[in-house]
Amino acid sequence: MTGRTHDLAALTALGAAVMLEPLRTVTLSTVLVAVLANQIGGILPDIDQPTAPLWKNLPEGKWFGKLFDKSIGGHRFLTHSILGIVIFGFLARLLLSFLHPIIKSVNIGLVWWAFLIGLVSHLILDSFTKEGVPWLLPLSKKFGFPPVKAWRITTGKAVETFIIFPIILIVDIWFCASHTKELLILIHQRIV
Ligand SMILES: [Zn+2]
Repeated sequence: MTGRTHDLAALTALGAAVMLEPLRTVTLSTVLVAVLANQIGGILPDIDQPTAPLWKNLPEGKWFGKLFDKSIGGHRFLTHSILGIVIFGFLARLLLSFLHPIIKSVNIGLVWWAFLIGLVSHLILDSFTKEGVPWLLPLSKKFGFPPVKAWRITTGKAVETFIIFPIILIVDIWFCASHTKELLILIHQRIV
């Protein structure tokens, strides 16, 4: 899937999690950092390709991207597996614990969960593509849904642009419309 579909799906998954498991009091800084972490998690697995935004925006990034791509086994490999989620999750927790003394008003536990939700949403979404996802690495078999490869979608093509992306958008609108009470509580009372 493309970056914008992953971004939208990560945000949708985060919104669904917040609605289903309403938060107690949460600081505005936590909300902002959590959304940022969620968006990073939503696109992070694709750093295994040199064309990823991270590499594009870094000086000499393409070179580093190619090196990174080769060192972790290529596209749709380690970063697209449960093992990758565990490694990213561990590293993110370390980074957040390190940063916590300078961002004391931020609930790093919630930020970490937002990051993980983005990460998992990426793998779920990629499972709908023809290439599939090696969920169970070191087992190299790639899994996808539906199981018949020909029925899955191709990244960046019309089905993603004109069907998948609008469907996620409609789910967002429906979810917000059906949870207006929870949204208002979150916006007016629970963000301090
Ligand atoms: Zn991916």
